[in-house]
Amino acid sequence: MTSEFSVTTRQRSQMVDITAQVQAEVTRQNCQQGLVTVFVPHTTAAVTINEGADPDVCSDILGGLAGLVPLRSPEYRHSEGNSDAHIKATLVGASVQVPVAGGRLKLGTWQRIFLCEFDGPRSRTVLVHVGS
Ligand code: ZN
Repeated sequence: MTSEFSVTTRQRSQMVDITAQVQAEVTRQNCQQGLVTVFVPHTTAAVTINEGADPDVCSDILGGLAGLVPLRSPEYRHSEGNSDAHIKATLVGASVQVPVAGGRLKLGTWQRIFLCEFDGPRSRTVLVHVGS
């Protein structure tokens, strides 16, 4: 079963903790055991799992990606002017998978699931697919 929810981002680059929404979909789909796939159907947004305890980690990830991928480059050809966002989305990826046991996401103590916005602000869709 696949369901979805929306996330409104507020900055051009931002990581939004969506763990609670993903858990809510797992609960709503009545999944007790299996594997959940979290997928973003976008080309300038991504999804990742990383530390949620210290917000500086997300800030450093976004800063590190900005250091790797320049906002402007004479090499870019894409006329929309957001090539950096497309490159960052490809580096981070469009999906993650998390095991579910006892109806709960089996994340590590410090792990959270994040939507990564690279060309916001805008509304994004997150798909949650539960398979066994
Ligand atoms: Zn584009």
